[in-house]
Amino acid sequence: MREPAPPILMLARSASDHLLHLLGLRGASLQRPAERRQHLLTAIAIALPLSLGFSLFNLHTGFIVLAAVEALASLLLVAALWLVRRGQRALDWAESVTLVWGGSISCALVVFGGIEGSGALWIFAYPYLVFFLKPQGTAWLISLAWLSSCVLLLAAGDAIPAAWPYSDVYKAQMAGALLFATLVAAAFNLARVRFAQQLEQRVAENTEKARAYLEELQYLAARDAVTALPNRAGLLQSLEDTLAACDPAREVVIAVSLRLERFPETLNVVGEEAGDLLARHIAGALALHLDANGVLGRTRVDEFIVFQRADRNPATPDRVMTALHDIPLSFTIDGLPVHVDHIVGCAVFPEHATGADELLQRAEQAMMQARARRVRLSLYDDRLDQAFHRRTRLFGELREALARDALEVWFQPQHCLKTGRVVGAEALARWPRADGTFVSPGEFIPVAEQSGLIKPLSDLVLRRFFDAATSFHTRGIQLRCSVNLSARNLTDPDTLELLRRLLDESSLPPAQIVVELTESSFADDPQHLMRTAHALRSIGVRQSIDDFGTGYSSLAYLRDLPVDELKIDQAFIRSLAEGSRSALLVEAVIRLAHTLGLEVVAEGIEEPAAEQFLANRGCDSGQGFLYAPAMPANLFIDYVRSSTAREPRLPASGGSGG
Ligand code: C2E
Ligand code: MG
Ligand code: MG
Repeated sequence: MREPAPPILMLARSASDHLLHLLGLRGASLQRPAERRQHLLTAIAIALPLSLGFSLFNLHTGFIVLAAVEALASLLLVAALWLVRRGQRALDWAESVTLVWGGSISCALVVFGGIEGSGALWIFAYPYLVFFLKPQGTAWLISLAWLSSCVLLLAAGDAIPAAWPYSDVYKAQMAGALLFATLVAAAFNLARVRFAQQLEQRVAENTEKARAYLEELQYLAARDAVTALPNRAGLLQSLEDTLAACDPAREVVIAVSLRLERFPETLNVVGEEAGDLLARHIAGALALHLDANGVLGRTRVDEFIVFQRADRNPATPDRVMTALHDIPLSFTIDGLPVHVDHIVGCAVFPEHATGADELLQRAEQAMMQARARRVRLSLYDDRLDQAFHRRTRLFGELREALARDALEVWFQPQHCLKTGRVVGAEALARWPRADGTFVSPGEFIPVAEQSGLIKPLSDLVLRRFFDAATSFHTRGIQLRCSVNLSARNLTDPDTLELLRRLLDESSLPPAQIVVELTESSFADDPQHLMRTAHALRSIGVRQSIDDFGTGYSSLAYLRDLPVDELKIDQAFIRSLAEGSRSALLVEAVIRLAHTLGLEVVAEGIEEPAAEQFLANRGCDSGQGFLYAPAMPANLFIDYVRSSTAREPRLPASGGSGG
């Protein structure tokens, strides 16, 4: 171990440290060459006009030697300017040239005393110039050399007759003042440089901070905040790289979209925090099963994406997709078991897409195709995609049509099969196009149901329906009017509220209004449906099960739902003639309905034979092209009036009532 230095030595060392610091002699040069170069240009810009001016002035006043020295100094400055502008490497040269100028001009002034000795005043400018232009250490050396030479000149005194026309008293004061000026110049320069350095350091620190923030922002912009997985933007970046590196002759890139089923509902149940935890668990489970070159990302709350490069082999997409589908997503969150189902769609580059964005979209479309076909996994199929695009286009057009109130409600008559009288009408939505054709409800109702447009659509239909039903009523046409509601409407309290209000405002007897519920809507949420059906009952409107026989046809619904009517689906009616099984079924349904006290309406009666069959079996009423298709409300009024004029129809006759 080294002996500690004696205190006196340490004191001396620290004092010298302080002194070196004070004088700015610590370490390397305080100013950088680029700065000095700039200073040099500044000095030349100030000095050149001065020296030229002095030269001309001295020439004018007859001080020829002085004028010549100033002219020489000007020349040196011009040379210095040329050297500085020539480039960095000439820098030191250029500085010394300037100093030569500085020295010579001052010397000349001192030696010759200027006019009446006024040149002596200029010697004080010299240290400032030196500290301005030279590194602190060098500037000290030059300044002290300058000070010494001035002192020598002062000491020489009368030996140089033209200089120093002052008394000895002044000489001592001038030497002292020059020392003082040197110290001030050194201190001033030090303070200026330190300030500049601090400023620079701050700027560097802030720049570094800003860069770090920017990097963090860029990171966050490409990440999902909950799972820290890449989000869509992040995935797209790396997918683009992967596609660029893929050799399509030998390889493919497989992209898989995993949609978590009913995830928002799950989040509602478990809460936000536990939901985040669940998302992280799911991310962890998926990551665990990822292939070595697989990339996992989260693009939506309920969607994860996986992509990976793989050898070209027809079985690979299926294998990857099935493996991802088979990952069990069951966890315990806050002590509660939570299970999440997922459906999986898969697309392959380059078969299904040419770029990263398109590939992700294709995988998502494949997932939607799986959902639409009610299967759990699906490989992208562009035929289905065309249907998807048609639906997307239809969605846009429908939204626009709804905004313009362009949907109409037409009425299809329902005839009593015993008397042939018109006893009811079913309201059917009609969407006329500008070219006079109609978009089929079979096409736009599912789009509306899937997109959320079913609410504004049903609101519009209900308003039009009540307007028309009221106008029938005021014209003395007493009919039951049916309107179709979708499963989505049945779970929406607003639609029920609107129905209630329109009914109140119309002052129609509630029993004249029939709400048709499609059987398939029962499957979604039977409990809710039950509550809605009871709510409808409390309003007093009649309820009908539409398309009976095509959905789940659970007898429990017939037992529990407060319905008044069954509508036998047209598929059965159309096939009545074809086979006895349909006939037997229809007969059984009619009997079953009557046993339960329900009325039976047959849909899609096209043939007189079907009408006869139904009438003979006691079916209450029917609708179909045999009588009339749906028609606008005003034509429907005419239809009812003219058909009343033709009454009575023959019971169970084969003729058309329309
Ligand atoms: P739906 O309620 O079962 O209506 C009966 C459908 O059968 C109507 O088709 C009608 O025009 C058609 N039809 C009637 N008689 C015959 C016939 O003799 N032969 C044949 N082949 N068809 C007949 P449309 O108007 O195309 O409606 C299709 C479905 O769209 C409706 O089936 C209903 O489920 C739905 N829909 C129509 N309008 C609305 C609406 O305003 N709201 C809701 N939610 N759904 C509606
Ligand atoms: Mg219907
Ligand atoms: Mg129907």
